[in-house]
Formats: sequence, C-alpha cells, structure tokens
Amino acid sequence: MSSPEPEQQRTDEPLRVAVVGSGPAGVYAADALTRQGRVPVRVDVMDRLPTPYGLVRYGVAPDHTKIKGVARALRRVLEHPDVRFVGGVEFGGDLTRADLARTHHAVVYATGASVDRRMDVPGEDLPGSVAATDFVNWYCGHPDTALERFVLDAEEVVVVGAGNVALDVVRILAKTADELRHTDIPQPVLDVLAASRVRTVHLLSRRGPLQAKFTAPELRDLLELPGADVVVPADQIDIDPTAVGTGAPELREVARAARTNLRLLREHAEHEPRGRSRTVRLHFWSRPQELLGEERVTGVRVESTRLDAEGRLTGTGETTDLPAGMVLRSVGYAGVPLPGVPFDPAGRTVPQERGRVLDTDGTVVPGDYVAGWIKRGATGVIGTNKSDAAGTVRALLEDAESLRAAAPELVPLETVLDERGIAHSDYEDWLRIDTAEADQAVELDRGERVKLHGWEAYRRVVGG
Ligand code: NAP
Repeated sequence: MSSPEPEQQRTDEPLRVAVVGSGPAGVYAADALTRQGRVPVRVDVMDRLPTPYGLVRYGVAPDHTKIKGVARALRRVLEHPDVRFVGGVEFGGDLTRADLARTHHAVVYATGASVDRRMDVPGEDLPGSVAATDFVNWYCGHPDTALERFVLDAEEVVVVGAGNVALDVVRILAKTADELRHTDIPQPVLDVLAASRVRTVHLLSRRGPLQAKFTAPELRDLLELPGADVVVPADQIDIDPTAVGTGAPELREVARAARTNLRLLREHAEHEPRGRSRTVRLHFWSRPQELLGEERVTGVRVESTRLDAEGRLTGTGETTDLPAGMVLRSVGYAGVPLPGVPFDPAGRTVPQERGRVLDTDGTVVPGDYVAGWIKRGATGVIGTNKSDAAGTVRALLEDAESLRAAAPELVPLETVLDERGIAHSDYEDWLRIDTAEADQAVELDRGERVKLHGWEAYRRVVGG
C-alpha cells in the first residue's frame, strides 16, 4: 500500500488530458472532464485549424442556423478556466503520440471522419465526379478547399445517396443566392452560387423511401424549398407502410421515422410542379452502375433496384442514363488513420472498448481514448456525441490513478511546441477571426457572420 502523503500529492495534481480535435465530440469530452469535479483536470483541446468546432463550423449546412447555435454551448466549454484551445497543431505532423506522452497523462482522439466513402463503380474518378465532403467543405469555407474548386457550370447534377448530407447538398444547390444571403457562406462562394447554371438536381437513393437514411426535419426542409419544384415519383413511394414496424421497440422507432418520411413524400407527390426555375427530382430504387463520360463526367447509368426476399438490395438489370455535368457522391464519411494509433480499416474507426483504444491483439493501449465518429463511425446527430464523449470520459477517469502513476513527471505542452518551432494559435486568435467574420457580415449587410475563406484570410487576422 502506498503512504498517504504521496497519494495526497498525486490526487491534487491535475490530470492532464490532450483532446485531439475540437469538433463536438472533442469539446463534449472536455466538457465531461471539467464537469465531474472529482478528479482535478487540465484539458488542452487541439486542432489542426485555428478555428474550433469542427463539423459544427465546416459540416452543418449554412442555412441550418439553429443547429449551428450549438457553437454557443461549445464556446462555454472552451472558455472554462481548466480548458485551453490550441489551434494550428496537427497530430501526426507537428506532434506525435510520443510527444503527447511527455506532456499529458491521457489523449482523447476526436478527429471525426473526414473523407468520403467510395461507391466503387466505373468512372467514379472522372473529373466532375466529386465527393460531397469536398462540396460541403467548399460552401462551409473550409480552408483546405480552394475557392476555384467549384464553378457550378453544369445544368444537371446528380447527387448519390439518401442521407442527411445528400439533402444538405441538394438544398444548397437548389436554393437561390438570395435565399442564402443571410447565412455565413463566404462571400466568394455565395458569388459562385449566384452565378450557378444548375437547373435540375437528381437525388439517387439506392433503396426505397422506408430505408432512406435522411430524417424527417431535413426532408421537410427539402420538400418546402420555396424556389424549386421537388418532384417525388408517386410510383416509387407506393408502399404499404404497415409492412414495417413490427418487432423490437428500436425497430418500431426506426419504422416510425420511416413512416413520417413516407407520409411527407406521399403528401408531396400530389403537388403539381409550379414551373419554378429549379427542379429537384428524387429517384428511389436507383443505384449508379457507372459514371459516363470520357474526359469528364457527362451522365450516370442508373440501375433499378429492389429488395429480395431476405431484404437484400439487388439490381433488376434495367438501366436508364441520366445526363449530369457534375456528380456529387454523398455515400457516407470515413475515418482516417492516426499515425501511431491502431485503426480498423474495415470500419474506418479506431478499435475501442468503452472509449479505451485497443491494440490489434485486443489489449488496451494505456492512455489512449477515442470519442465521436472516429470511435463509432459517421452516424448520429451532433447531440449523440455528448453521451458518446461522456462514456469515454467515464472510462478515462476510472483509469486516472494508473495514468498518473505511469507518467509522474510531465513537461508543459509549450516546451514541446517551442522545441519544434510550432507556431500555434490560441483562443484569443480564434476570437479575432470570430470578430472579423461578424464585422464582415455588417460590412456586407448579411446576417450575423460571413466566414473568411482560405488560409491566407486566417493568416491575415491571426498572423503567422
Ligand atoms: P448516411 O446517413 O450514412 O447516408 C449515406 C447514404 O449513402 C445512404 O442512403 C446509403 O444507402 C447511401 N450509400 C452508401 N453507399 C452507397 C453506394 N455505394 N451507392 C449508392 N448509395 C450508397 O451518411 P451521411 O448522409 O454522410 O450522414 C452522416 C451522418 O451525419 C448521419 O448520421 C447523418 O444523420 C448526420 N447528419 C445530420 C445532419 C442533420 O441532422 N441535419 C446533417 C448532415 C449529416 P444505404 O442506406 O442503402 O446504405
């Protein structure tokens, strides 16, 4: 048994935790760490970018202002006296796992799922076929996506996938620049959207309306677009809604959401198109078989599908060609391996148990934890990350004593950053960007915020 004296010293010393990634999962992890009040903590929330909030800033569609309001709650966490935001630091590039072992007792990886999944069809890589993640990054002003990435000179666009991201990108393409004026879209992006030649947007769902992944509020937003006719194919939604919904309570819950979608689609299918300048066409039971074109994409060969007796998706062999000058692949996000951290290439996540990172042999990697999409895959809404991160933090706090014992003497993070000559940014720098964006909105007479666009714009405000 250890003597009371050192034990006392150890528990008074704060547990130093590095959170890699300042999106909702990372910030909720910091929140759970500071709220518990049992183990004193100091949390460094790091991000590659000088701007915090991850997908809240660079993923939530600009016209979803209510969801973006989550940033206010996240802000309170970053302003907690035991939490520090460290921007401009890339895990794996600037700092390694070994570096963080010198500076922190534990690391929570909350790096999300930043790349697109593949469709694995011929022509997928033709110019003009783009990952929705790229398009989302562009209209959200992510500094990694150049402004010139999109010109929107195609009249017809095909969006593949029936998730909420697909609905976001369809909506942004189908809205007029006037409808988006009061959002935080960077001005140069809004200018491109204003000059858009897109007139028809096709959405391909490889299964039926009952199996679509999008949720009712998002579907409603699409169906209620004021400036576009949304065409719902009555024959593809002619399904008996009671065919699902029996069985376990969770299945009934899924079925309830699916039935709401079906009801909304049915009501909408009765509307006559009103001759609006833009049209959105929904195609259910339709999967891309091939992207057509030589030098760049000119269309999509779409195969009709159905479910077999076991509920598996199968092609009918019937195909139709849809013209398209641009194809947006919105078939889900995938995690990216972190240098020095185990990775499951099939699930595109870090293997874990209760948030504790597991090695390839199933043993716990001491001091390593995960939260959010890199832990459970790209599912759920922003709020899902709160309970997810809280679960990880519970496991981490259970380990607090052994973590302290394993790393009794730490060096300050600044020491390592200075050794490496890493010019990082801090929360004050972010507030400067925040203010510059609010000022820009006043100047342009556009809403509460207009985002800066590109690294150069950030550098002008933050320096370095
Ligand atoms: P998602 O919900 O997983 O949807 C992916 C879609 O792509 C599904 O319809 C899927 O069909 C389809 N798909 C997958 N592989 C395909 C292929 N090879 N060919 C054709 N279709 C294919 O992913 P997401 O839309 O990227 O969204 C990620 C998460 O973020 C979700 O949890 C979503 O709810 C959340 N999100 C929420 C909001 C919001 O709350 N407003 C906004 C954006 C995103 P199958 O079902 O047949 O696999």
